[in-house]
Order: sequence, then structure tokens, then C-alpha cells
Amino acid sequence: MIKLHDKYFKPFISAKEIDKAMTRMATEIANDIGDEIPVFIGILNGSFMVVSDFVKKYPKPCEVTFIKLASYEGVKSTEDIQRLIGLTQDLTGRTVVVLEDIIDTGNTLAEVHRIFKNEQVKSLKIATLFYKPEAYKKDYKLHYIGIEIPNKFIVGYGLDYDGLGRNIPEVYQIKETQYMTNLVLFGPPGAGKGTQAEFLKEKYNLVHISTGDVFRFNIKNETALGMLAKSYMDKGALVPDQVTIDMLEAEVEKNTDANGFIFDGFPRTNAQAKALDVLMQSKDSSISAMIALEVDDEILVQRLIGRGKTSGRADDADESIIRNRIKEYYDKTAILKDYYSAQNKYFGVDGVGSVEDITIRLSNAIDKL
Ligand code: 5GP
Ligand code: MG
Repeated sequence: MIKLHDKYFKPFISAKEIDKAMTRMATEIANDIGDEIPVFIGILNGSFMVVSDFVKKYPKPCEVTFIKLASYEGVKSTEDIQRLIGLTQDLTGRTVVVLEDIIDTGNTLAEVHRIFKNEQVKSLKIATLFYKPEAYKKDYKLHYIGIEIPNKFIVGYGLDYDGLGRNIPEVYQIKETQYMTNLVLFGPPGAGKGTQAEFLKEKYNLVHISTGDVFRFNIKNETALGMLAKSYMDKGALVPDQVTIDMLEAEVEKNTDANGFIFDGFPRTNAQAKALDVLMQSKDSSISAMIALEVDDEILVQRLIGRGKTSGRADDADESIIRNRIKEYYDKTAILKDYYSAQNKYFGVDGVGSVEDITIRLSNAIDKL
């Protein structure tokens, strides 16, 4: 992974793959052109590296020149193309091949065609190393295409992000999500998980995804996933993990600009933990840590009995029910503790003390991630 200015990029296309595509294009173009001497025209700035490597691979005599256009601001293409250096030589009767680094919307290409409209060239061919078919909005034929890529911002091999990255010999793609702190939060009943989640959310600007809330939201709003989940619940069957994961994915997608997520109530099994890893990976991210509040059983029992007296919650009134819930918690989370420990991602935090003290302990653990 690399960082340019404020953004993170991941390796996407290796120098070797680029070289292969370039060789293929040079051979193809040489075969089509035959013995004529073509003029290759690079579009500056981006295509300097493409042109340099291309002409070295071109097996026959050729001429090279450049025009300079600019259309990009940051990571977005703009309609407004500036012609900074136009054609500086007469191309009447010549076979011209425009060499582009990348064709995205095609706005730059439209400007290229405007430039050539009044030139009496013999033929005008367009070659591009990279092409984003989903972004392309024009009808101009692309005669030679190196590599088709998805509609995501890339850097390297001549391509920049606000000036940086042009010198990198391979191509990097922008990360779907930027750097994130993703926490799986655990705590036995009575450990104060809800209070602490609220605090963590504020302090680290995280999105709290409570699986229970997500379920209730989807069912209440009768989303497709909500209805699907309900159909299992109505039969008294367990909702398949994939349905839950799909709901969580929707939550993650709503918040790709977040600094990260607090997963609460999920995962509960090894299979779910793996599925969550896969989901985060598909978003170019990962789970940073499982944070578990640790509170001695006797203290939990006392806290819950105390809470039962004031709240009147039936499940907080009976000591044996309470002990059973605590036991169940440990039975279920032990597997996850092992799962995340194996990746050095388990952090137990002492959950006894004042709310502020626990908060400080949690922050200390998170700040070290
Ligand atoms: P278009 O005019 O086809 O939308 O975009 C062409 C120009 O935009 C390219 O020559 C390049 O300068 C810039 N561009 C398009 N897509 C990308 C990209 O993914 N990364 C970078 N760095 N520049 C791009
Ligand atoms: Mg360009």
C-alpha cells in the first residue's frame, strides 16, 4: 500500500503486465502500419512513460512528438480540457497514432479529434494503454487497447494524483475505503458495552453497527434483505450468515467515508468472523481488533441485580438467569477470542472501574492499533 497526499492506493498492475501489454500493442501497430513511417503523438503529461517505452519497443523507424492537454483535477475528470501545447509540425499525408496513457470519459480524446479535424492526415489511429469502458462516454473508435480496467482511479506509470505518482513503475489503484479502524466490540452483559460504544463512536468518528439494530431496521422497512431474514425467522429457522453479512455490507457501503466501524453483536461464530474478514477485504479494509471488556463474574452479577432492581427488567432480576447469560457469553466468545488472538488482534480491557477509567483504557488500546 502507498499513500500520496491524503489518499491510500494498493498495488494493481505490475510492471511486468504493463510491459507485456506494451509489447503486444507495439507489435500489433507495427504489423498494421507496415513500412510507412508513422508519427506517434503522446498526450502530455500522463503519456510520457507510455510513449518512451512504446517507441523503444517499436521495431521500425518512426517519429515522435507531443501535445499537451490537461483535464483532471485531483481524482475527477473535468469537461474543461485545456490545450497547453498544440501541434507543432505539419502532419499532412502522415499516418498518425495517438498514444494515450489512459482513456476515461473520452473528453480528452474529443479534444484530440478537434485538433485533428482540420489536419489532412492520411490516417489517425488511437492507442491507449489503459481504458475504462464503464466511464467512456464517446463514440470515437479506440483502435488499440492495452488493458481494460474498472472505473477506479489509478496512479503510476505516468499517471498522477495531484502531481505525485507519475514516476512509479507499476500501477496502483485507489483504495475503496481509506485507512480505517474497524473494531469488533465485545463485553459480557452488564459490562457497559453500550456506554463505551457511544464514547468510542464520538472520539474516533466511527460508525456503530449494532447487528440487532440493523436487523430491526431492515425488517421494519421491509427491505429485500429484511423480508428474506423474516421469512427464516417466521419458520423458526436461523437466518443464514450470508443474509446478515449482506445487511452489514449495505451498512458499510453507506459509510465508506467513515474512519471505521464498531461491529457490535457480530460475529458470533468462527464462520461469521471469516465472512466479516472477507467483507472487509472486499472493501480494501480489515478488522483492526477485537476489543473485549473484561469484568469479573461476581461484579457483573452484582451490577445486573442492581440494574434489575431499578429497571424492572425481568431477565436482570433472577441471579441464576444472570449467571447463565454470563456463562453463555463466555461459551460463545471463547471461540472468537481464539480467532482474533491467532491474528494478534485480541485486546482484553479491564472493565471494572468508573466509566471514565474504562474509556481511557479502551482509548489506550485503540491508539496503539
Ligand atoms: P478523459 O478525458 O478520458 O476523461 O481522461 C483522460 C485523462 O484524464 C487522462 O489522460 C489522465 O490524465 C486523466 N485520468 C483519467 N483516469 C485517470 C486515472 O484513473 N488516474 C489518473 N491519475 N488520471 C486519470
Ligand atoms: Mg493524459
